[in-house]
Order: sequence, then structure tokens, then C-alpha cells
Amino acid sequence: MADYDVDLFVIGAGSGGVRAARVAAGYGARVMIAEEFRIGGTCVIRGCVPKKLMVYASRFHDEFKDAAGFGWTVPEPSFDWSKLVAAKEKEISRLSAIYRTNLEKSGVVIVESRAEIEDAHTLVLKADGRRVTARTILVATGGTPVLEPDIPGRELAITSNEIFDLPVFPNRLLVVGGGYIGVEFASVFARLGSKVTLVQRGENVLRGFDEDMRNGVRDALIHAGVEVKAGLLPTRIDRSGDALRVTLTKETEVEVDQILIATGRRPHTLGLGLEKAGVVMDKVGAIKVDAFSQTNVESIYAVGDVTNRLALTPVAIREGHALADMLFGNKKVAVNHTNVATAVFTTPELGTIGLTEDEARAIYDCVDIYLASFRPLKATLSGNPEKTVMKIVVDGQTDKILGVHILGEGAGEMAQILGIAVTAGATKADFDATMAVHPTSAEELVTMRTRTARYERPQQGKDEIPGVADL
Ligand code: NDP
Repeated sequence: MADYDVDLFVIGAGSGGVRAARVAAGYGARVMIAEEFRIGGTCVIRGCVPKKLMVYASRFHDEFKDAAGFGWTVPEPSFDWSKLVAAKEKEISRLSAIYRTNLEKSGVVIVESRAEIEDAHTLVLKADGRRVTARTILVATGGTPVLEPDIPGRELAITSNEIFDLPVFPNRLLVVGGGYIGVEFASVFARLGSKVTLVQRGENVLRGFDEDMRNGVRDALIHAGVEVKAGLLPTRIDRSGDALRVTLTKETEVEVDQILIATGRRPHTLGLGLEKAGVVMDKVGAIKVDAFSQTNVESIYAVGDVTNRLALTPVAIREGHALADMLFGNKKVAVNHTNVATAVFTTPELGTIGLTEDEARAIYDCVDIYLASFRPLKATLSGNPEKTVMKIVVDGQTDKILGVHILGEGAGEMAQILGIAVTAGATKADFDATMAVHPTSAEELVTMRTRTARYERPQQGKDEIPGVADL
């Protein structure tokens, strides 16, 4: 067997790469990991973690208001963006340092350099030109925000990469895109004090999520003061003094201080040398892998957002771990990408697992829906008009829970626990047999007795159009 410098070379020290490197080193493999930016990757440095810190910051806006209903007198609060940015920076630097220490403790060699692939077993470190040979290569370079649509002046806009560290708080913010990032930042900045306008090409926010939840998030954004404009996109951006003037389709104009483009992310594969090594990618540059994260080149693997399977941190971590288990721990398990619980951190937040109502109705012959919408207990005294919405989607034939969707305080936390039940194959009867925790919002999940709707698919050859057989 050829002698290589390392057993595993990981490109990218984000969630997936770090996990794979540490677990592999734990099995005794000689591991090297290269990172061109900061250790921790998107999630830790400019994604999930700083975003959640900003979500917490934004929610004090509601807490100060709610407090009055409980007897508190709160003086007019004020907010200091630069203090939040500094506190956030301190925390992510701490986390990045922990990632580094953990890698070092496990014996992983860290190289702070861009690494590019030369061939199936060779990499070049761009910082010093050094060549390293590896028995296996793992590409875990994540994704990068796109600046689309391609309009004149788009270079004046920012992406989620820049928004965390803006030197000046944007009093007027235009958000382009109604996906995860668009709605989360619209919710955050509206609460921190920006006048936020959100424009999107579709009719509603959060395509792919359950319709009732999409409507709930949109209404909550509007309630928070966000101007949500559907079917509208920027066509050009011009500087106007210190401000930016945006021309929108339908000839309208808006003047803002910053424009956040949140129209998706692309796999970060450009210039990595993948073509040279013969690695097959799809048309958006995502690396094609099999169920075990192996590319068409035997020695090259890829995990996380760079494969565009399910662009979520915990998925990347699981894929990285499974890969190290397989390569060095003699455990071969394919990661299951179904029933992945997820949360959108608007306020209130959205927690979800499994199929939406529409997806279930497209697949199953009989679908039962249990839907509840109520004012949470806290809102009775605070006067906050916010509603909690919960929906359980059930297979009407087997009673199996197909999906659960929650919009309300703590929905992300609930989705995590529900993930266990749904992954274990729980039925509606199991939910009904579970004792409630009182008084909580989550108790509604085990006390919804009355079905809201049942959808039965017409049998083939039978009344495809209701009533036709009666003619
Ligand atoms: P999303 O794919 O979630 O949303 C993209 C938005 O931009 C949609 O509204 C989409 O519209 C619109 N869009 C896409 N392309 C264009 C275009 N060419 N012109 C105009 N509008 C366009 O992407 P995000 O950037 O919000 O997030 C990227 C990914 O990051 C997410 O998919 C998710 O995997 C991950 N993420 C996860 C988070 C979490 O777990 N809480 C938080 C943040 C990000 P349409 O609906 O019409 O397609």
C-alpha cells in the first residue's frame, strides 16, 4: 500500500469537517485539517450561533413590552448595536478556540491555509505551497451565500456573511428573499429597531414549510412591523448619499441603509481542484456522493452543505461522524435524511418535523389533521396578540404520526423532543396516551382529541371528480 503523509485530510474546519477529523483521530488515524477562514465554520462564526444570539437580543423588545401586564414598569429601553456585536464576537471567538483545542487534543494537525486538490491523493496548501498526500480526502467546505438576482448595483448589497458585523446599525433594512435567512433576520432587525421591508418573488415566505405555519410566520412578521411584499424583487440598486436606492419590479422605489440578499446558498466548490481530480458535481456545483458520502473518486468523500443534501448543521455533523466511523472505526451506517427536525428562529419560532399537510396528502391515501390555534397563557396578561399554532399530520390508515408543525414560543425545543417520538414511529394513539405537563403550551400536542380534517384520496376509477358518479 502506498505510504501517505496522513490517513485523512479534511478541507474545511466547520461542523462536518471538525466532527469527522476528531472522530477519525480518536480511532488512531493520522488527520490533518485545513481552514482558510476561522475554525468553526459558518454555523459557529457567521451562522446559527451568532444568529441565535441576535434572536435572543431581539426578543427583549417583546419582553419589555410584555412585562407591563405583569406589574412591571420598565423605563424606555434603548439598544446599542455595537455592544451586541462585541459581545457576540467574544462568544464566537471563545467557541472557535474551543473547537481548536478539541481538535488539537484529539491529535488532529491544523493548517491555517486554503487547501486545493491536485489529484485523488494529493493536496496543495496555498499558504506555503506545501504538498500533502492523503489516503483519503474529505471535502467539507460548506456553502456560500449567492448574490442573486443578478442586477445592476448588487455589489452594494450584503449577505448573511456581513450582517453580523455591520459597523453601523441599519435603521432601514431591505431583505430580499423569504427563506430561512430572510425571515429570521427580518424578525431580528425589526425588533432591534430597524424599519424592515422584506421582498420575495413568491406569494408567501418559507416555501416548502406547512401552509398554516407559513401564514403564521408571515403574519407574525407583519405584526412585528415588517413590510412583507410578495411577488416583488429589486431590479437595480444605486447609491444615494449614505443611503441605497432600490428600484423594485412594478416601478416602485425604496430607500434603505442596507440590503440583505438572502436568496439561497451555493456549495463552496469553486477552485478546489475537484474537476482536476475527476470528482463529479451537479449543475450548482454540489459534490455528488452516495449514501456513504463517497464521491465517484474512491479516495474522496464529502459531507455537509457542499453536497447539498440537507443544508443543516446537525446533518453535517452526523454525516462527518458516520464517515469517520466507517473509514476508521469499522462501522458502516448510512445517515438517515428523513424526519430531520428543524427550527426557524423567527419570533415566535417555528419548529417542524416530518411531512407537511400537502406532502402527506400527495403521498398517503388518507390523512388526518389535528390543528390547534390558541393564545399562550403568558399572552393573557401581557396582552400580546401572538398566537401559538400546532398541527399534527397523521396517516389515517395506520395512525402513524407523519409530521408535527409548531409556531410558538419554544417550538424549536419542542421539535427536538418530538423528533425522538416521530423517529421512533409514534402513533397518534401514543400521543393521546401520554400524560400532559400542565400548564404548558406543549401539552396541546397530547390533548388534541378532535380531528380537524380528514383527506381521503379518491380510489382510481371511482369518483375522481366528486359527484360525477351521481350524474
Ligand atoms: P432558502 O433557500 O431558505 O430561501 C431562499 C429565498 O430566496 C426564497 O424565498 C426563494 O424564493 C428566494 N430566491 C431564491 N433564488 C432567487 C432568485 N434568483 N431571485 C429571487 N429570489 C430568489 O435560502 P436562505 O438563503 O434563506 O438559507 C440557505 C440555507 O441555509 C437554508 O436552506 C437552510 O438550509 C440553511 N439555514 C438554516 C437555518 C436554520 O436551520 N434555522 C437558518 C438559516 C439558514 P422561492 O421561495 O420562490 O424559491
